[in-house]
Amino acid sequence: MNIEKSGFSTKLIHAGEIDDQFGSATVPIYQTSTFSFSSAEEGAKCFSGDSDGYIYTRIGNPTIDALERQLAILENGFGAIAVSSGMAAATTIYLSLLSSGDHIVSTDAIYGPARSVMEKQFVRFGFEATYINTTDIETIKAAIRPNTKVLYIETPANPTMDITDLVACAKIAHEKGILLVVDNTFCSPYLQNPLDMGADIVFHSMTKFINGHADVVAGVIIAKEEAMYRQLRNMMINMGCNMDPHQAYLVLRGVKTLSIRIDRAQESAQKVAEFLENHPNVAWVKYPGLKSHHQYELAKRQMKGSGSMISFGLKDGFHGAKALMNNLHLAILAVSLGGVETLIQHPASMTHSKVSAADKQKAGITDELIRLSVGIEDVVDIINDLKQGLESI
Ligand SMILES: *Cc1c(COP(=O)(O)O)cnc(C)c1O
Repeated sequence: MNIEKSGFSTKLIHAGEIDDQFGSATVPIYQTSTFSFSSAEEGAKCFSGDSDGYIYTRIGNPTIDALERQLAILENGFGAIAVSSGMAAATTIYLSLLSSGDHIVSTDAIYGPARSVMEKQFVRFGFEATYINTTDIETIKAAIRPNTKVLYIETPANPTMDITDLVACAKIAHEKGILLVVDNTFCSPYLQNPLDMGADIVFHSMTKFINGHADVVAGVIIAKEEAMYRQLRNMMINMGCNMDPHQAYLVLRGVKTLSIRIDRAQESAQKVAEFLENHPNVAWVKYPGLKSHHQYELAKRQMKGSGSMISFGLKDGFHGAKALMNNLHLAILAVSLGGVETLIQHPASMTHSKVSAADKQKAGITDELIRLSVGIEDVVDIINDLKQGLESI
């Protein structure tokens, strides 16, 4: 069968298969650092690129390759590069695409460390970055300079749940001759496919939805074109931020249930968002599946579902947020997201605490904002937990 033409859930189950000599139904863990060559000549061929035999696990490994083939198919890219974490994906992209004096335009409300690594570390290498509200297309156009090389988008943004128009961004990027990079972690390939909308590179923290079981830290980069894939892959190999075979095995196992996990989580998230919106202690709720989201129509257009991430603010501000977080019994007070368990956290004091107060203010990461990742527990239990937590304020 042609796996590339099959349905998404079929790809989740079968796109990561390999031909195993014993007929193993799952991908075996090739837990080895190195591979023997059948002859001196074969070893030389592997190194010269005339053979695609395996050499060394940092360069390639059958378990990791299986996962990479699967992710490339799920995102409709030329090839995928599995890496040790989502941040390894972000930094491999920055270091592959930027040279001293180059400039990047990026969403202001992005994953905190993806911004702070730029502003606090990569400035030393002469990289320049401008963080803006990418929901406004005119603001993007105005921020692009002659030395801009990359437009870097996260949508929905973390933690504001603002949506950036990917088709419009691809149009601007290509008019200006720059690359469009999208952090697709919040959606996973099940809900959004940026390469199909014109992006050049998409990446994920697979720690989140793709693995989905809160037991692995991992990342992946998918490039649309072969030349870009090779450039990124070489950087990964030389930086040594490769994935480990055992990590790849766990992600291969986790990803199989991606669609049914997300179906359940987003069905519950819709109910949770509606419950929160109607609660007297809640000031506001931002969820792409609510008509009150100011970009409801755009979300419907570019996402295949609303996902399971919700941000909301309490009338009682930071004081109320703390009271709620300290009084939940089911939801786990923890950073991360996209797992089977419901997680709650406070971005201003946790995931985004390294962003300056002024930049937080500008990006809408306010003190009252709480981020909720809805899991796959029974929704009645999730809502009851929030209800008693809100009543304790
Ligand atoms: C978690 C996350 C990252 C970083 O991934 P790690 O696996 O923690 O390194 C990047 N982007 C987004 C949107 C994330 O949620």
